[in-house]
This record gives sequence, structure tokens and C-alpha cells, in this order.
Amino acid sequence: MTTQIESAAAIRLGSFVAVFAVMTLWELLAPRRSLSTSKTPRWGSNLGLVVLNTLSLRFLVPMGLVGVTYLAQSKDWGLFHWLETPYWLAVLVSVILLDLVIYWQHVLFHLVPFLWRFHLVHHADLDIDVTTGLRFHTIEIFLSLGIKAVAIVLLGAPPVAVVAFEVLLNATSMFNHSNVQLALGIDAVLRWLVVTPDMHRVHHSWRERETNSNYGFNLPWWDRLFRTYRAQPQDGHLGMTIGLKQIRDEQQAERLHWMLALPFTTDPSPTSEEPQE
Ligand SMILES: [Zn+2]
Repeated sequence: MTTQIESAAAIRLGSFVAVFAVMTLWELLAPRRSLSTSKTPRWGSNLGLVVLNTLSLRFLVPMGLVGVTYLAQSKDWGLFHWLETPYWLAVLVSVILLDLVIYWQHVLFHLVPFLWRFHLVHHADLDIDVTTGLRFHTIEIFLSLGIKAVAIVLLGAPPVAVVAFEVLLNATSMFNHSNVQLALGIDAVLRWLVVTPDMHRVHHSWRERETNSNYGFNLPWWDRLFRTYRAQPQDGHLGMTIGLKQIRDEQQAERLHWMLALPFTTDPSPTSEEPQE
């Protein structure tokens, strides 16, 4: 089992590095918007948080989610073990259902004030690019791990499905947060298959009704099904303001220690007013 956990970690790291490199290059060659803050301190802090999260996960939960699937398998836990589902079907349905779980987890992180405390660190980014897709408070990462572990045990998801899902979620998060130019015609077709950067950028608008839409990370269907889909931002992609209305201090929003302390220092009550122009 240790070998499988190690190779899963290597696959995840390899795909992270590859997708990160491609998106970074694409952002340099064909950016969608000009960024409003300087890249260096933001990237330092956002990537610093990634390193901190990765090390804490490896240290505190070394078995990871792949370990959870082997545990469930050895105990014969979960729907797919009881139903004796064909392997390919169990993999496919697990990936799709895990994505649905992540959609609802995201909705909950917006609705429940205690959870929003942690998730707002992601939304406090004053720009949106590939590093925003990796900027999550360490406690949100652990809460999310717990939710995914429960879902994996209940489903009896195969290890391959879990590795595929983790790789896919990480890759699509970097893709849909990236500041890349994509022809509008291609975007219109692609957003039926996967959440595109233009679709997800709406979710990072400072307008609250736009923040509370387009929760999907991977498959775009859940937003359409549960009526949280919003096609375009009111102010247009070039005119929209990114971030939260109550957090506009550039100096702070890009400091790692400030980001880590934010859930404990902020007033999590959702803002009900629309931003005043
Ligand atoms: Zn969100």
C-alpha cells in the first residue's frame, strides 16, 4: 500500500508541475486582463501557502485519500463494494459523484459563516490567476480532506478514481482560475464540458450575487442543474473588480501570515449590500 501511496503522490506532483508550467506560460503569452497588483509578493504568498499546505498534509495525513480507499477496500466498506459494480463503472461514477460533493462543499463554504471564514482567504485575492486556484487556507484544506474521505468511504471509490479525481481537480482549479485569453467561440463550447476561466471568474467578482454563483470547479453541469449558473459578469471581464468588497488593502491581502490569521480576525457575516460605485 505504501508504494501505491507514494506513486499516487508522484503522479499528483508531476501533473501539478506540468499544468502549472503550461498555465503560467499561457498567462504570459496571452493574458485575459491586466493584473491590478504586482505579481511578485502575491505569487510568493500564494505559492508559500501551497508549500505549507502540502507539507502539513504529508506530515499529518501521510496515507492521503488513496490510503482511505485501500482502508475502505480492506474492510469492504462502501456502495460499490456492496453492489459489486463493474470496475470501469465504479471509477467513472466515483469521479462524477466526487465532483458533485465538491460542488456542494463549495456552496456550504459560502453559506455557513464558520466555513466562510476560511474560504474567504481564497476570495480575498485581489487578482485572479493560476495561483488563486491554489490559494486555500490550511484549515479549509483539512476540512475538505475530511469531507472527501467520508464520501470515498461511503462510495467505496476505487483508488484509481481517487487519484484521477485529485489530479483532475488540481488541474482544473489552476485552469479555471487562470488569467488566459480563450477565443469566445471556444469558451462557449468548452463551458459545456469543463468550467472555463471566463465562467469561474464571475465567482471572484466583488458583487455578492456573482460571488454566490458558478460554484463548480470541474464539471460545469451542477451550476446549471442547481440554478447557480451565471454566464457573464455584469461589468464585463475587463471592467469587473476581483476580490471582496470589505478587503481592499493590497499590502495585507498578499501577506502569508495575514492570510493565515484572516479567519480568526475577520467578521464572517456575509455582506448583503451591493458594492457602491
Ligand atoms: Zn468560492
